[in-house]
Amino acid sequence: MDLELTSEPTLFVEVLLPVPIPGTFTYRVPVAMNDLVQKGVRVLVEFGARKLHTGIIADIHNRPPKNYQAKYLLDLLDDSPTVNELQLKFWNWMAQYYVATPGEVMKAGLPAGLKLSSQSRIQLRPEFDIEEALDLEVLSDKELRLLRSLEQEDSIPYEQAADILEVKNPYYIVKELVRKEAILLFEAVKDKYKPKTKKKLRLNPIFLETEEGLEQLFASLGTKQKAKQEEVLMKFLMMVPVLTNPASNEEGIDKKELLEGGTSQVSASSLTTLIRNGILEEFEFIVSRFEEDEYSATRYQDAEVKLSEAQQAAESQVLGYFEEKDIVLFHGVTGSGKTEVYIELIKKVLDSGSQVLFLLPEIVLTAQMVVRLKKIFGDLLGVYHSKFSDNERVEVWKGVADGRYQVVVGVRSSIFLPFENLGLIVVDEEHEPSYKQYDPAPRYNARDMALVLAQMHKAKVVLGSATPSVESFYHALNGAYGLVQLKKRFGDAQLPEVTLADLKLERKRKTMKEDFSSVLLEQVRNSINEHKQVILFQNRRGYAPYVMCEDCSWIPTCPSCSVSLTYHIHRNQLRCHYCGHSEAVPKSCVQCGSTKIRTMGVGTQKLEEDIKFLIPEARVQRLDQDTTRKKYGYQQIIQDFEQRHIDILVGTQMVSKGLDFDHVNLVGVFDIDRMLNFPDFRAEERTFQMLTQVSGRAGRKKDKGLVVIQTNNVKQTILHKVARADYEAFFRKEIEERKQYHYPPFTRLIKLSVKAEDRDKASAAAGLLARELVKKLGAKRVLGPQEPVINKIRNHYLMDILVKLERQKVNPQKVKEIIREVLGELDGDRQFRKVYVNIDVDPV
Ligand code: ADP
Ligand code: ZN
Ligand code: ZN
Repeated sequence: MDLELTSEPTLFVEVLLPVPIPGTFTYRVPVAMNDLVQKGVRVLVEFGARKLHTGIIADIHNRPPKNYQAKYLLDLLDDSPTVNELQLKFWNWMAQYYVATPGEVMKAGLPAGLKLSSQSRIQLRPEFDIEEALDLEVLSDKELRLLRSLEQEDSIPYEQAADILEVKNPYYIVKELVRKEAILLFEAVKDKYKPKTKKKLRLNPIFLETEEGLEQLFASLGTKQKAKQEEVLMKFLMMVPVLTNPASNEEGIDKKELLEGGTSQVSASSLTTLIRNGILEEFEFIVSRFEEDEYSATRYQDAEVKLSEAQQAAESQVLGYFEEKDIVLFHGVTGSGKTEVYIELIKKVLDSGSQVLFLLPEIVLTAQMVVRLKKIFGDLLGVYHSKFSDNERVEVWKGVADGRYQVVVGVRSSIFLPFENLGLIVVDEEHEPSYKQYDPAPRYNARDMALVLAQMHKAKVVLGSATPSVESFYHALNGAYGLVQLKKRFGDAQLPEVTLADLKLERKRKTMKEDFSSVLLEQVRNSINEHKQVILFQNRRGYAPYVMCEDCSWIPTCPSCSVSLTYHIHRNQLRCHYCGHSEAVPKSCVQCGSTKIRTMGVGTQKLEEDIKFLIPEARVQRLDQDTTRKKYGYQQIIQDFEQRHIDILVGTQMVSKGLDFDHVNLVGVFDIDRMLNFPDFRAEERTFQMLTQVSGRAGRKKDKGLVVIQTNNVKQTILHKVARADYEAFFRKEIEERKQYHYPPFTRLIKLSVKAEDRDKASAAAGLLARELVKKLGAKRVLGPQEPVINKIRNHYLMDILVKLERQKVNPQKVKEIIREVLGELDGDRQFRKVYVNIDVDPV
């Protein structure tokens, strides 16, 4: 009955679109789709000027928009949700917290293969009547030509219009036809993800349809010339018992296996003939990209490892805290065996049927680590790494969604995966700044978001580190988190001894050799003589940080950034580490014409060169961004070092983290003063962490290790705290200063970076922003605007404003609303067109 039809409710959906406009967008659901719409499903909608987009349904309701007529949903792209409701809630939360749009979070979260790629296409509007338009004489010849070709097709790519019209740029003709409502310009939607397929062989099923089919086939092959084909077919039937098990033919057999497997080889060319004649068929089937893992187990293996008493105690303390708290800070010195404790905890959670996320910073998620975990968790383990291809990432996504991967080890973006029921999140090296995404928005910290995600799942969190962030340790002492500590290394291993090499003194006594103090050089020699291995740490790549004219002190700088250019010895080039610009080293000074251009300072390339010269018998390798560009570059170097084909490894922070080598007994540290003097309130914290981590690579097994830190000022107390491995002394002083100068954890920070090609414009916009913020928040809470040390990057001038909020009394979400408002005003102001503002909540 009619009544039935009209009683169908009119539904609306909120659609999340990958556009930098806040909020979701309301669309009307065609009645026919009423039963099919679900939250988390990808959809096709018209957005903006007749453009089609794909988005995700975030909500379903029956409230029509007040001020406009909602457009209809055009299509549904999934039968079941790609994104679950918890994810939607989480993403929305992130967008609010980081002052981003949900669309931006969606962009960061979905692997590109699930985001739909689009390509403009043109289509004739079905209701458009060409003949009528001709009668009315409203079409030009060219327009008619395009319409006539469109009559033949569903749609054509935009570029093809140029060919049809024989013009270079069809834009104006297409635009005119869109205006006349003759055609529709839209973004074609393609799923970029392609499953990996493999070719297999099966018998053409027609030979199985009748009883005599096979007999006749053999009869036809029963001649001498065809003996080899017969042989192939016989082998096929032996390996694929099609008669006794018809299903086996559907599964088929790998081509290579048929040719080379079993006891005899058969002729490849005869096989080709059989395929050509339609007797055997090739077909494609989908394989997992990860199926060829060496380690397969449906459940974890009981590994050989047994926890030490201290580790066991730590584990039960963690479990004890979990009775009443959701978060535990696990502070264990380097080499204390935190990983084994995590593994035990993970096993318990898996046993209870929940999922686990194990977060690691990019440089720590190494092959070494993955092998260690694969051995235990086998097929249950999914790995999510940014070096993966996009297709691989989509497979992990799908594996998590369908429950195949119960535990995921991954980098920061794995917080976006479609978990259904997390029981535990482990954040190892929780202090690592690389958990923070700098660009683009959302500028999130995966450590902090792990806490939010866990809360939504009612899951527990372990934050682990040898050098916890000041914030986390503070929360642990406060009682907000549980605190579990392991103060000794596993087994007989001891923490290394740390010595300071006094560069000032050595320079005075002229005992320096290049940049090596005699103290360090002697120790390197000792280690090499004892066939031990050495790590030299210098956190600057390239040969020299800059070059300088000896006569007039001119220093070449980047044309697009306000930084000096780094000298790279290969190709004799100067390069900008901010934008990638490179140029030849000038033969003479552009300022005074002098030819005395000198390299200044030390990068990893120079250290490598120097040590090779000073100890020619040592085998030296460099590990930095420049030597690891190839996909397996990093892995190869680590493996060579592990297998002791290398004696001395010179490198940037890549050498400092997570690596576990048995024979390193010496670590040398260069240029640490520069890091300490960096103008940032976290400089000491970063230095302490970096030094402790890199020292942690020494003496991890039987022999005690030694660390030599070269410094111009041996009196710096922070270095002595590193030497004593006295984290708590470091913390006590640091927390006092944070309190005194109102820094986190006592305040919250939000940094606004204003960017514009024109310096005055950047400055004017920043000035206006700051004034508006001062009006609304008070002068005490707004610092700046200030030009940052590097005030120009990629031809954009920068100005910073820092908003500082006390923890009590201020509602940070309110402040973020105010910031959005003020930015909205700036956006509306024409004189500030092309001024961009980045918002960084909790900058690190
Ligand atoms: P951390 O992550 O705390 O720096 P690791 O977990 O890497 O320390 O452990 C340090 C070393 O001690 C590793 O080589 C690890 O294999 C070994 N180890 C730790 N716990 C055990 C154990 N229970 N049995 C055997 N070896 C262990
Ligand atoms: Zn000069
Ligand atoms: Zn540059």
